[in-house]
Amino acid sequence: MTRYQKNILISEIGESGQQKIKNAKVLICGAGGLASGVIFNLCALGVMNIGIVDFDKVELSNLNRQYIHKTSALGEFKVLSARKTALEFNPVLNIKTYCEKIDENNVDELIFPYDIIVDCLDSIKTKLLVSSAVIKTDKTLVHGGVDEFFGQVCTIDKTSACLACILPENAFSDENNTKKGVISPCVSTISSIQSMEVFKAITSLGEPLKNQLLLYSGLEQSFKKIKVQKNPNCPVCSK
Ligand SMILES: [Zn+2]
Repeated sequence: MTRYQKNILISEIGESGQQKIKNAKVLICGAGGLASGVIFNLCALGVMNIGIVDFDKVELSNLNRQYIHKTSALGEFKVLSARKTALEFNPVLNIKTYCEKIDENNVDELIFPYDIIVDCLDSIKTKLLVSSAVIKTDKTLVHGGVDEFFGQVCTIDKTSACLACILPENAFSDENNTKKGVISPCVSTISSIQSMEVFKAITSLGEPLKNQLLLYSGLEQSFKKIKVQKNPNCPVCSK
């Protein structure tokens, strides 16, 4: 409890809130840039039960932003490298790793043991797949996306607009999902906002970013919240 003294000092959290944080089960989809910040934030908050799913290995070009991985981890599976760094931070964490690509066949099974799912993915197709799976359950999804100097965050569950309602139609084709550049301060800002959404979902404090998309511009240092609605013709959540 000494470790989390500064959390517990906040009256809205207290010991009971810290207990909720300790018991929460969070699955992080992706082990790249967004996941780097989310993993560090959740471990520091005191989330003890974390799953990480990713099938990639650490490459040199990842290290402009994926700071959970050290140079010595080049060539290692990202999930194992991320777990190792997290355990150096706190050896008593319970971190499960899933070294696999998320697809239609494994998505339900992967999310099943967890309460909150964090979208730290870079493929729009996989993001939509995870969103579709989460809204069939009582779980919460915290979506995040980044490119160049921009980012976005929202929280999704079965009562809110889903990711397919929110993303523009042209985002559905992975052809438009061209690999753009991105810089670490922007990724790290978005990952911190995602971590705050996870914290709020665990503790039921504050207003979740449901039916709202938070847009960030690093160059302008501006945040804009836009209202989004469930699309009555959404191919995913209107059924
Ligand atoms: Zn929808």
